[in-house]
Parts: sequence; structure tokens; C-alpha cells
Amino acid sequence: MNNEKNKLIVTKIEDGTVIDRIPPGKALRVLEVLGIDSNYPYTVALAIRVRSKKRSLKDVVKIKGKILSEKEVQKMSFIAPGACVNIIKNFEVEEKIKLEIPNHVEEFIDCLNPNCVSNANEPIDSSFDIVSKDPLILQCIYCDRIMEEKYLSGQL
Ligand SMILES: [Zn+2]
Repeated sequence: MNNEKNKLIVTKIEDGTVIDRIPPGKALRVLEVLGIDSNYPYTVALAIRVRSKKRSLKDVVKIKGKILSEKEVQKMSFIAPGACVNIIKNFEVEEKIKLEIPNHVEEFIDCLNPNCVSNANEPIDSSFDIVSKDPLILQCIYCDRIMEEKYLSGQL
């Protein structure tokens, strides 16, 4: 009984968020970015490298009772572009958000230029335009520093 085997993954939640079609192996990074650790106050289910209906591999993260904020969704779009965020209410999908890298990003990435004003003790958030999505290249709006994905490994 194939259905029985996949029960863990397909069990429905009443309210919360299901992050589906995460690129295989990226789910742990998604948890990290969302700050999900042993003190996280919600029930979380994690499935790594499961077969999708289209037979390809994917990761899935389900968070019971928690609707992700816009900021959290934006963060994840860098880690797991192509994934799908489903907001669940009363066992129904209320909203489906396909994760795409945005054209602009603020706050959660730090500029690599140590002399950039966004790294000084000023009350401003970092801010970048996305110059290219694949490969990912960002440009700081304050100092114009170009940042490639390979130099952001600690941040993305
Ligand atoms: Zn900068």
C-alpha cells in the first residue's frame, strides 16, 4: 500500500503552512532560515527526498499553527526558488505562493563591503537590487558593491 507508506507526508494539517517542492536536500537550510530549532513553539514535520507525483525528488516542511510572514517567505525564496508555500486554513489551501527570487531585497543579507554605510552603526537596513537571478548577483544600493552568490554562502 503505497498510500500507507506516504502517510507521514500526506497527513493534512488544520491550520498552518506547508512548504512543498523544496529542492531536495534544502529543507534543513529552510528550517535554519526560518529560525526553527528545538525551542520553536510550533509542531514541525520534515520530509527529505520524497518522491513527488511527477517522480522527482523534493523536500517538504509543514508547520502546524503558524502562517509564515511575508519576510519569511521572501527569505526562503533565495534558499528554495521554485518551492511552493501553501497557507492552510481549516484543512483547505487558502493561499498558494510560488517562491521566486524578488527583484529587490532588504535587511536579511549584509553588504560584503565593510566600509558600506549599511554596516556602520546607522539606523538603516541593507538593501540590494537583484542584478541576476541565475547565477544570483546582488548590488548594494548604498555602495554599489556587486555580490555573487558564491560569496554569500554564509548568508544564504
Ligand atoms: Zn554596501
